[in-house]
Amino acid sequence: MSDIEKVVIIGSGPAGWTAAIYAARAELQPLVFVGVPKTSPSIVLPGGQLMLTTEVENYPGFPEGITGPDMMEAFQQQAERFGTRSRSEDIVSCDFSQRPFQLETSKGETVHTNAVIIATGATANWLGLENEMRLATSGGGVSACAVCDGALPAFRDQPLAVVGGGDSALEEASFLTKFGSNVFIIHRRDEFRASKAMQKRIFDLPNAEPLWNKEVVDVLGDDVISGVLLKDTVTGEESTLEVRGLFVAIGHTPTTGFLEGTGIELDEAQYIQLNTRSSKTNIEGVFAAGDVADSTYRQAISAAGMGCIAALDAEHYLSSLN
Ligand code: NAP
Repeated sequence: MSDIEKVVIIGSGPAGWTAAIYAARAELQPLVFVGVPKTSPSIVLPGGQLMLTTEVENYPGFPEGITGPDMMEAFQQQAERFGTRSRSEDIVSCDFSQRPFQLETSKGETVHTNAVIIATGATANWLGLENEMRLATSGGGVSACAVCDGALPAFRDQPLAVVGGGDSALEEASFLTKFGSNVFIIHRRDEFRASKAMQKRIFDLPNAEPLWNKEVVDVLGDDVISGVLLKDTVTGEESTLEVRGLFVAIGHTPTTGFLEGTGIELDEAQYIQLNTRSSKTNIEGVFAAGDVADSTYRQAISAAGMGCIAALDAEHYLSSLN
């Protein structure tokens, strides 16, 4: 059998790198699978969702803000300083039924390890429009995270739009009303899916306005968004809405497909289920951190905190094997 790793970390966002920093400092010589860039069905980059975020202004310690990519590079450098190794591959399947665990890489190799930390994140769902992706990746005013980007100067006192009708969409819209002049909530039906409490909060806000039975069929603007082309889902009529920011809030998809058949417990939305107040999954020696196990908070700082917890849990578990 090839060398047996102490701990393999799958994923390279804030949770993965923080787990690596802690594991490396605990002399566990972690190996991080940073992943392979993908463009379909949505954009996924090594470094995770922060790679699609221009300015990060809410991560403590950066009073002037920092770009998402710069932040992820700093996380990686900090992890490597303490001996973290990384490989630019995906883990495509796992066998947790035998010890050490076996992980198959996208290059067809098998890696053996005593512990695993899953930090593969979740990807925001997008509408799938060409101009949406173009302006999201260029920082042109299209985002899938109002809490991350909504307070940026470009959106202040400007008309903004949110797409979606669930709790996330209304929460994002409510947040954006503090910054935008008015916030349109574009929903494809004539009633929200969100909780009644959230709906009441939105209906009470003077500068939030639902646009019922509308779908976004194009995003307009060259370098920055100037508006969206809407289509009425009942009449088929098209109209233009001028906005300076578009926030897509139509749900997230956790990256757990590669866990199929492993026995890891997922919830109904396919997020990893954890033991309360720890990073332990239902399989001993397998831990999870960050958005892949958190459908609620989904922030860089909360993911980093979970990464720290996972490394400490893994260290404790590995010491119990000796
Ligand atoms: P969600 O509940 O699945 O809602 C997604 C929304 O996006 C739906 O309104 C859906 O429309 C719409 N949508 C989906 N695909 C679309 C498309 N291609 N084009 C246009 N619209 C589309 O997702 P979520 O709001 O992210 O919430 C996920 C879970 O987290 C839920 O259980 C939610 O209750 C929970 N959550 C809770 C809180 C809170 O309690 N504070 C906050 C956020 C999220 P339809 O309604 O027509 O299907």
